[in-house]
Amino acid sequence: MPSENNGARGGPGLDFVRAIVDADVKSGRNGGKVVTRFPPEPNGYLHIGHAKAICLDFGIAREFGGRCHLRMDDTNPSKEDEEYVNAIQEDIRWLGFEWDGSLLYASDYFPRLYEFAVALIRAGKAYVCDLSQEEFKEYRGAPNKPGRESPCRNRPAGESLDLFRRMKDGEFEEGRYVLRAKIDMNSPNIHMRDPAIYRIKKAPHHRTGAAWVIYPMYDFAHCLSDAIEGITHSICTLEFEVHRPLYDWIIGQLDVPCHPRQIEFARLNLSYTIMSKRMLQQLVNEKLVSGWDDPRMPTLAGMRRRGYTPGAIRNFSRTIGVTKFESLTDVALLEHCIRSDLNKTSPRVMGVIRPLKAVIENYPEGRTENFEAAVNPEDPSAGNRSVPFSREIYIDRDDFMENPPKSFFRLAPGREVRLRSACLLTCRDVVRNGRGEVVELRCVYDPDSRGGHAPDGRKVKGTIHWVSAAHALEAEFRLYDRLFNAENPAAAEDFKDCLNPASLQVARGFVEPSVRGAAPGSRFQMERTGYFCVDPDSTAELPVFNRTVTLKDTWEKVRKPAPSAPG
Ligand code: ATP
Ligand code: MG
Repeated sequence: MPSENNGARGGPGLDFVRAIVDADVKSGRNGGKVVTRFPPEPNGYLHIGHAKAICLDFGIAREFGGRCHLRMDDTNPSKEDEEYVNAIQEDIRWLGFEWDGSLLYASDYFPRLYEFAVALIRAGKAYVCDLSQEEFKEYRGAPNKPGRESPCRNRPAGESLDLFRRMKDGEFEEGRYVLRAKIDMNSPNIHMRDPAIYRIKKAPHHRTGAAWVIYPMYDFAHCLSDAIEGITHSICTLEFEVHRPLYDWIIGQLDVPCHPRQIEFARLNLSYTIMSKRMLQQLVNEKLVSGWDDPRMPTLAGMRRRGYTPGAIRNFSRTIGVTKFESLTDVALLEHCIRSDLNKTSPRVMGVIRPLKAVIENYPEGRTENFEAAVNPEDPSAGNRSVPFSREIYIDRDDFMENPPKSFFRLAPGREVRLRSACLLTCRDVVRNGRGEVVELRCVYDPDSRGGHAPDGRKVKGTIHWVSAAHALEAEFRLYDRLFNAENPAAAEDFKDCLNPASLQVARGFVEPSVRGAAPGSRFQMERTGYFCVDPDSTAELPVFNRTVTLKDTWEKVRKPAPSAPG
């Protein structure tokens, strides 16, 4: 169980939501109980924005000794699916949270919501209206233009009750009638101008099938579902702030066991990322990504496959905090959180992504020896691993330059480097193919430099990684990068124009043999290269490694170009 937020309660550093909950508990509101809920609509996979809400809803319940419910907000039949219901539960558990009681569904409350609507009509607080959708909009007015009352507003309750029952019995076509709350057509808040609370929709529902042909609107279903469950604090995102008067009004009219307090916070927006489920769905449908769990997706399923840890995501949520202000969080902060987590926990291995063979001419053919290397220098208890070495090795092409500038401290003809954890190596010559490209290096090593130390104390600046050709495992590397190359793709005319064409590059290379048989989900730091996670597509013959994140932020340069030289 995650414990990052433990101890947050009661301290001076409470965010504003926790401060409200804290004050309610201390004043004995709701008998000092805290019950929250996380209410996803099962019309897509959960994303990193949802993770912020989950950490808040479940975190607060835990910190205040309360309960948190998981409720599928499934009142819109046309977009919902069982696949999403299952994925949502899996992702919440993966993130480290468990809901109290069984999984709940707003659709289970349909019969009670219907009765609540009937009670409103009886009390003269709701009426069936026959305005068309266009008329409805026109009568409603605008924020600076008062609304007009519907001709049906004073329909007798008995008549509305009869029509509402017949709506339920399927007598009318979609759009023929809606049930409206009778509040105030002159309210400055447009949501209070007799909002629709039930509409006819002849679509089968993923759980109730064809039982219902009328469905409650979100504003009606949500507050009453909260009340039915005894939710004390209904935490939601800022766009619901203007709905709060309606939330309170509905609850106030009806005989419900509890009056939840709605608290709104600013949703998470992340740079270089989209968070709208509609847009994410579009990427999936148009096969611009491989699915909801494509490692480039900001979904929890995608991030899990990419190699993110639940702890890093919880830590990120805690770091960004909770405010009332809309802002754009830098995705570099999320990447920083995953780097610092993986740095502490992931075993180091060497992997060569773009292999270039180097033959060590003074190393005897057929001989093998093993060098010891730390599994994780950040964690001495992880011990050492043994890395085999032999006459032919692979190094990364990027670590060799034929005509390097002075500042290049890696391998070049006539230059010496340290092979990580092994020895010192000098390049003597290159071998070319018919096109003149370098395909192999001829090198010599210093037999007295075992462990990488120069016997005479001479300075060797560069250290590169390598794998022994005879022992290496062939591997596929999926080099993921940000899916978008615009800071705010959702603001673009078409967000798909901002897709980063280099968001996935696939390479064939080699890894050291210690990773043999690593299960999907295993995470490693490939030394000097990045953090990687074994993909479920791996086979015994060909392990597949997803790059979670590079070792350093390579986008920093892009965002902040180096200052030009003074002229
Ligand atoms: P979309 O607008 O893309 O359809 P949504 O907000 O409708 O997303 P829901 O399934 O209704 O998605 O969200 C469940 C809960 O998660 C809600 O309480 C919602 O406020 C919260 N949530 C959704 N997106 C974010 C976000 N980016 N940051 C924080 N909380 C979020
Ligand atoms: Mg929603």
